[in-house]
Amino acid sequence: MTASSSPMVSAKDMAKKYGDFIALHPLNVEVHPGEFFGVFGPNGAGKSTFIKLLTGQLRPSKGRIEVLGVDAVADPQKVKANIGIVPESESPPSFLTPVEFLEFVARLRGVEDMHAKVEHWLDWFGLQEKRDTMCKDLSKGQRQKVMLASAFIHKPKLLFLDEPFANLDPIYQRKCREWLLDHVAEGGTIFLCSHVLEMAERMCNRMAIINDGKVLAAGTVKGLKRSEEETLEDVFIRLVGRSIEDVERLSDEGVVDDSEE
Ligand code: ADP
Repeated sequence: MTASSSPMVSAKDMAKKYGDFIALHPLNVEVHPGEFFGVFGPNGAGKSTFIKLLTGQLRPSKGRIEVLGVDAVADPQKVKANIGIVPESESPPSFLTPVEFLEFVARLRGVEDMHAKVEHWLDWFGLQEKRDTMCKDLSKGQRQKVMLASAFIHKPKLLFLDEPFANLDPIYQRKCREWLLDHVAEGGTIFLCSHVLEMAERMCNRMAIINDGKVLAAGTVKGLKRSEEETLEDVFIRLVGRSIEDVERLSDEGVVDDSEE
């Protein structure tokens, strides 16, 4: 770990309750420059809550959060202005076209050569044909491409991604993966949340596995495995507690249909 550099993200004793419900138990995390850090867990584990706390979209119930050296609890606007965020299943504004939205974001972010950059990202994501279509009339995948383009256009040194590839076809998943890996190789830092373990294997330097708002394990992908043979899926099932034996027991009891096709 790059312990000598000051962290891009630092959360100490960070926790979140919604009413009486504990969505995230107190946890500590640090992400350093040039890291690709991933948080993985099943649906409802607390991943989006985690990312929203770090990006100033939610206030923690307790704890300290610093992002790029800025106190995210006291000054969430400053944090949001300095990072890139692709939130889960969020869409660009319905009544703007891709060109209008990307120009808006580029202007807001002070991107130089705005028109050339917008054209570049429309080409890159294969969106030229839809450039003047209102975003409400785009497919889910096209809307997600517009959101990703709006994050990539200003090459933020710290980028937060929540289930970034959920609606992308494999071709664009690969293109985006390669762009993100290049961005990290050039010194960018990425914090990603997903339930797709393949992304950890292919991209992350370090990862945490969470469930029921608790960090079950954290470390390098290799470090989380007990042996060479153990796959990340094995690790996930072992930690998240839904063991194969449980599934077999449920199937013996007729709860799970395991009939062969
Ligand atoms: P994930 O992203 O891992 O699917 P979330 O962080 O969205 O999980 O949610 C974690 C838990 O917190 C879930 O049980 C969810 O129902 C609950 N939760 C999320 N947002 C709210 C909210 N605004 N009010 C109450 N409960 C919430």
